[in-house]
Amino acid sequence: MRLSDTFLEDLRSRVDIESVISPYVNLRRRGKNLVGLCPFHNEKTPSFTVYPETESFYCFGCGAGGDIVTFMRRIENLDYLEAVKMLAERAGMSLPEDGFDDSMAKQRTKVLEANRAAAKFFHAQLFSERGREALDYFLNRGLKVETIRHFGLGYAPNDWQELKNHLNKMGFDDVLLESANLLRRSDKNGRVRYYDNFRNRIMFPIIDLRGNVIAFGGRVMDDSKPKYINTSDTLVYKKSNGVFALNFAKNGNDGKLIVAEGYMDVIALHQAGFTNAIACLGTALTKEQANLLSRYAKEVLISYDSDEAGQKATERAIGIFSSTGLEVRVLRLSGGKDPDEIIKKYGPQRFRDIIEGAANDTEYRILRARDGLDLSSDDGKLKFLSHVADILAELSSPIEVDIYASRLSRELDVDKTAVMTQVKYRRDNYVRRRKAEREREQQKKLMEGSLSKNTERTSNLRAAKAEETIIASLMRNPDFYPKIKNEIAVDDFITALNKRIFTVVLERVSQGNSAEPFFLSSAFTPDEMDEVTRLFRQSSQMRNTVEECLDCIKILKMEKNRPGDIKASELSNDDFAKLFRQNTDKG
Ligand SMILES: [Zn+2]
Repeated sequence: MRLSDTFLEDLRSRVDIESVISPYVNLRRRGKNLVGLCPFHNEKTPSFTVYPETESFYCFGCGAGGDIVTFMRRIENLDYLEAVKMLAERAGMSLPEDGFDDSMAKQRTKVLEANRAAAKFFHAQLFSERGREALDYFLNRGLKVETIRHFGLGYAPNDWQELKNHLNKMGFDDVLLESANLLRRSDKNGRVRYYDNFRNRIMFPIIDLRGNVIAFGGRVMDDSKPKYINTSDTLVYKKSNGVFALNFAKNGNDGKLIVAEGYMDVIALHQAGFTNAIACLGTALTKEQANLLSRYAKEVLISYDSDEAGQKATERAIGIFSSTGLEVRVLRLSGGKDPDEIIKKYGPQRFRDIIEGAANDTEYRILRARDGLDLSSDDGKLKFLSHVADILAELSSPIEVDIYASRLSRELDVDKTAVMTQVKYRRDNYVRRRKAEREREQQKKLMEGSLSKNTERTSNLRAAKAEETIIASLMRNPDFYPKIKNEIAVDDFITALNKRIFTVVLERVSQGNSAEPFFLSSAFTPDEMDEVTRLFRQSSQMRNTVEECLDCIKILKMEKNRPGDIKASELSNDDFAKLFRQNTDKG
């Protein structure tokens, strides 16, 4: 299924890239372009650049790049047509009816249906005779039955086939269930067997904002390992995007979300009336999760465990959350290791007090900077002041800096101007250093291709660079086509990804069509689009002459015909045997 160029041109002219990206990224003008903090990786200074002129974006930090469609695919986890549809709807256009391929959408619906059926099954098991132990586990942890029902908690029986049989009977086949990660597949001695992924575990369904069950977390009830089994990435779920209980917390949260560490903390908080609690799934907080939260809140209250690991995670989370523009406060949990324990021991009021007294991120970092220093000594004071000056130098608001400097001068009994001088000196340095570094890095990255997503690049560096220049020339200068068409063919290409990109570019320019990223994105995955976009951007640093292009064609052909460097995996059995004989003869 392919959308016509007329439709795409129309879409492109009606949707401008700034309006697509700005709900997700705070963009600032820099010359002709816009920059902001990348939504796809964690950063403090903007390397995410939007080029309105070519309706494309590129991140010099992580190499993510593409057009408006690629952006939507990536940030909303959509397939190509879903993303086009979303953009088209916004522009008041409808997709052409004919040949609309929705097989992917159908498959996703089926996975969601299977997940829903599985959630119901687990929930029913929890309230059956065999679920007694699991139910006791929840009740002993202080959960009320209505809370258990509210969250749809469940129990996966200690059996290899029970969920499989149940869902098979409902018409879901094994292949689909495996793709939903509800079943696993073993392939022993050529005999394929499917079995339940979750066994003898208490089950937490993960529900998205539309009320779909998209994944499960399964926890053991004793000390056996692994403690958790979670749904891996599927058609409907991306782990790096997963947030637990956001479906409940998104409404009526006053713009504030409490970020807790685990399922049980979140559930205990909700039961105690803190219905704005959520947990980010997976081992480490991701930029994508932070971005998602920033759409439903202005402020996050980090409430991780009070142990060392929890505090480390807190510092990391502060950086990630602030980079999305969220205000951050940190709860100092005293009197218990996690929210669950504190509420159980002292009741909800204590937790409310902790929220009231929560430090913001800068206060928290200043508190941490004080750890282990003796502030009654001059040496301790100096060290502390120097740490704090570093922290304040990175703040963008002068008012904030002023407030902290006043506080600090009172507390340490030093002159406020002295504090401010320290901060200003560091800030000037910091800003100058960052700016120069950034510019150097960006030029270098483009030309060296250090952010390339072409996995064969390093082992075929000379050829790959030639390929890239040829592709970039044609993308930027479609009028070169008649002058080079007899000199180069698709089969001259060596690396597989470049070969594919060239094929698609060639097809478009040979028909007189534009080969800008926007028109190529239906043919590539978002990851591949990173590379397409990098090549397109690289062309702005090239000479852009037919000669340059022809030189690279020469180099590529030489590389192609160069003997040696034979890849064993690409040889036929006979040739391989021959090669082997040659080598042993030599030895
Ligand atoms: Zn990035």
